[in-house]
Amino acid sequence: MAAPTESFGAVEAEGSVGRRGSSAVEVVLPSDPTVSAPLCPHGPTLLFVKVSQEKEERRRFYACSACRDRKDCNFFQWEDEKLSGARLAAREAHNQRCQPPLSRRQCVERYLKFIELPLTQRKFCQRCQQLLLPDDWGEHCEHPVMCDISITQLRRPSQLLYPLENKKTNAQYLFADRSCQFLVDLLSTLGFRRVLCVGTPRLHELIRLTASDDKKSNTKSLLLDIDFRYSQFYMEDSFCHYNMFNHHFFDGKAALEVCRAFLQEDKGEGVIMVTDPPFGGLVEPLAVTFRKLIAMWKEGQSQDDSQKELPIFWIFPYFFESRICQFFPSFCMLDYQVDYDNHALYKHGKTGRKQSPVRIFTNIPSNKIILPPEEGYRFCPLCQRYVSLENQHCDQCNSCTSKDGRKWNHCFLCKKCVKPSWIHCHICNHCAVPDHSCKGPKDGCFICGELDHKRSTCPNISTSKKANKAVRKQKQRKSNKMKMETTKRQSMNHTSVTRKKKKRERAHQYLCS
Ligand code: SAH
Ligand code: ZN
Ligand code: ZN
Ligand code: ZN
Ligand code: ZN
Repeated sequence: MAAPTESFGAVEAEGSVGRRGSSAVEVVLPSDPTVSAPLCPHGPTLLFVKVSQEKEERRRFYACSACRDRKDCNFFQWEDEKLSGARLAAREAHNQRCQPPLSRRQCVERYLKFIELPLTQRKFCQRCQQLLLPDDWGEHCEHPVMCDISITQLRRPSQLLYPLENKKTNAQYLFADRSCQFLVDLLSTLGFRRVLCVGTPRLHELIRLTASDDKKSNTKSLLLDIDFRYSQFYMEDSFCHYNMFNHHFFDGKAALEVCRAFLQEDKGEGVIMVTDPPFGGLVEPLAVTFRKLIAMWKEGQSQDDSQKELPIFWIFPYFFESRICQFFPSFCMLDYQVDYDNHALYKHGKTGRKQSPVRIFTNIPSNKIILPPEEGYRFCPLCQRYVSLENQHCDQCNSCTSKDGRKWNHCFLCKKCVKPSWIHCHICNHCAVPDHSCKGPKDGCFICGELDHKRSTCPNISTSKKANKAVRKQKQRKSNKMKMETTKRQSMNHTSVTRKKKKRERAHQYLCS
């Protein structure tokens, strides 16, 4: 049986307005593990299916797991497509050509040479984002070059390199200092000695800086990231070039063994995985990857520890809570708001425009995690966990119910707390934003709009045409305001493709916002 699929449209995203009258692409987990996916330069591709309200066709295709923009990786192949030997060879050659020019070993050798240079000869090309050895100077003489690169600078590559803000592939949002410091302090308070940093380069460097300043806390960190630029700054045992959407190590078995050894050291004691994936990414392939890392850690456990779980911090927006907990039922969401340096929207309430929607999901019991009172958190003795000040305990729900840092209100008809802006709708029989369209298709089925099933199991699959027409008409009547909200949410999810646009898109331009 094919595993349940996941929509690119963050289904939990508030109201999911962005998906109405649109198509989305879902990832399909392979039902037959013996069929291996074709390879793109980023490792094994993923199988997708494009679903839309008006078409029932579901031809499946393979596309890059890491790049959600064809400009970054244009791999496309129909699932049932047979390629000629010549095309396969051309693809193989293309994949080779796309690999980084230097091997991991060569990068390390360059780094060792670089730190031997006197300060005045240590240069960094800002255009090529590369540390330069004297032999390289000529090639970069026309480029903006930084000189006198100090050891301190070398230890903070996330400040030297510019963040890759390409939303659809890298989406590199670096932690603000206070959030990064909070994480480092928390990890040390919890007694971790090794941190597997998956897509957290700034956390990785702060852990290492802290360890070298303070000989007592000798916490080790291993960074797994797709951003190859970081390989210039770290030895083989502290950075692996890695794709977290398919668990692919670009440097093959040697790198995989680095990761395995790191997880299994001390029989797996004292290690935690911290990950901050790009938010446009799919939860399902990430969960599959994390399960593989968990399995790797488990292999190193002694038998009597079989009940133990690998401690994890998964940093992701709060509206993915149900999705993440579906894959990892032992996870809970902390109320801490994670702030970013280069993301205007995700800065803390007082300085940024908006409160950050990003939270920490973890399998560590929340009563063990102290959130800083100076940043506005308090302990709720009834819930036995730290919450933000505005998150008030609801006597009806018997918990601190707010998810977004604002005070939520209890609705006695819905029998739960809801966002402050929502009102109870007597047509829909639940609370919603005041200007919602009643009984419209919401998170549910693309075909009939019912909430209790998805398009794939819709009982009306062939009688749906009329219903869709009605939905389309209703959609056209929607106010401009609604449309604006749609675009806003789409850009947050990087998900849906509007119908009009879709026609213009090539079939394999599988994602656009
Ligand atoms: N807040 C973190 C950075 C998170 S941004 C910090 O400050 O340390 C997301 C990170 O994931 C980036 O470093 C990006 O390079 C990395 N990334 C993006 N796609 C990836 C992929 N497919 N596999 C592995 N890492 C990826
Ligand atoms: Zn690719
Ligand atoms: Zn309540
Ligand atoms: Zn209500
Ligand atoms: Zn309504």
